[in-house]
Amino acid sequence: MISHSPRKRFGQNFLQDNQIIQCIINAISPTAAQHIVEIGPGKGALTEYLIKTNCQLDIIELDNDLVKILIERWNSIKQLQIHNQDILQFDFNQLQPIPLRIIGNLPYNISTQLLFYLLDYVHLIQDMTFMLQKEVVERLIAVPASSDYGRLSVILQYHYQIYKLFDVEPEAFWPAPKVKSSIVQLIPYSTPPVKITNQQHFSKIVTAAFSKRRKTLRNNLKNILNIEAIQKIGIDPQVRGETLTLVEFAKLSNQFTKFIESDIKNSFQI
Ligand code: SAM
Repeated sequence: MISHSPRKRFGQNFLQDNQIIQCIINAISPTAAQHIVEIGPGKGALTEYLIKTNCQLDIIELDNDLVKILIERWNSIKQLQIHNQDILQFDFNQLQPIPLRIIGNLPYNISTQLLFYLLDYVHLIQDMTFMLQKEVVERLIAVPASSDYGRLSVILQYHYQIYKLFDVEPEAFWPAPKVKSSIVQLIPYSTPPVKITNQQHFSKIVTAAFSKRRKTLRNNLKNILNIEAIQKIGIDPQVRGETLTLVEFAKLSNQFTKFIESDIKNSFQI
């Protein structure tokens, strides 16, 4: 058996509490007919149980030494594919069949970046069950006007129904992280809760609205939408971005799209 010491730079906190591992597996309830993708399998604490279900399984691990351990342990399992790759470069389009159920005790240092990265593949996904830093899960489920509400909340809540399942104490891991953790489930909407005409404009508006939390919408959007355009859709330009609902962000985004489209039309008429 190859030995391995945890590497901080890869966010390595390995699950060691069998009860918690079992609770996570129960929350996922994988079946043989499903295609499961595990991000950051580590030494295989969750993988072991996933393999037992006979599901089709792809696991993606960055640490070469851990990949050697995983290969040594499970090379002969036909329905398992081991990918030695950075998840932030991984092309989920190569995985067949779809839909994919994505799971993982994620490396906390890249977790928000990864949640945004996965948005490009939302059409392939049935659901995702992740262990994340508790504070990140609070941001994911935050409501308007709360201190946790921000860009992550608005963009992710547009794409997914999000459920916090349970908290996990640091002692469940080795080494124990300095923060508490939570399990969260994200299920893509088949029909989004609001209509947004241009995703890039939505992202731009939300990013700008939260760019300086203490400033008003009028200030934060000054290079994007003027006061009249904001008022026209029934939103007060003096409020802060953090008070706006998803419906209001959608209105702002669609208003911005209208402006851009009329600008393009006008420039063609000149
Ligand atoms: N699943 C294992 C467990 O629960 O014991 C390990 C979880 S540990 C928190 C995160 C895992 O993600 C580590 O194995 C780490 O090497 C891996 N990892 C870190 N960055 C990664 C990346 N960019 N792409 C793929 N895996 C990564």
